[in-house]
Amino acid sequence: MPIDPNFPKNHKITGRVSDILDKNFYYIWGPGENKEASQNEDVINAYKDHDESITPIGVHGTIVAVDWDSCVAQGNCLDVCPTDVFQWYRTEKNIPATDVPKRTFSGRGMIERTGRLDRTDKAQPIREMDCSFCMQCVQVCPTVAIKVDQSNISVHENSKFP
Ligand code: SF4
Repeated sequence: MPIDPNFPKNHKITGRVSDILDKNFYYIWGPGENKEASQNEDVINAYKDHDESITPIGVHGTIVAVDWDSCVAQGNCLDVCPTDVFQWYRTEKNIPATDVPKRTFSGRGMIERTGRLDRTDKAQPIREMDCSFCMQCVQVCPTVAIKVDQSNISVHENSKFP
């Protein structure tokens, strides 16, 4: 199932991921639901290797939004992005995706498609404010997990997470 194009209306902010100095941050929108990732054999096996269960995660980012329940970690988006918006989150912090909310990330994770840790990894829009709105990531995502919307800049700016 593709990312819900109306996720800011149909979901609530369930987390916030910031850099160490809290200068840049993105929101997480939930609740999530089991989608493509929970049905992909490679993803399922990778989670088993980590001894982790696949549980709903939600949408990461607002301007560049990635539905982590749909993301199967193919990584085309990392390869085509001209401004390196995405990183593989597990190459910076190898923790379950459900533990990512409220954690800090420096953005020093791998930015190449081939740098992925394994299929439990996710494309993290850690630099969504650097997006140039070329839409290439949207076009190459095999599960239509990404929505890029310039008008969501105001949603990002006017949102809060307690
Ligand atoms: S729209 Fe273009 S610049 Fe923005 S995240 Fe996608 S590939 Fe990167």
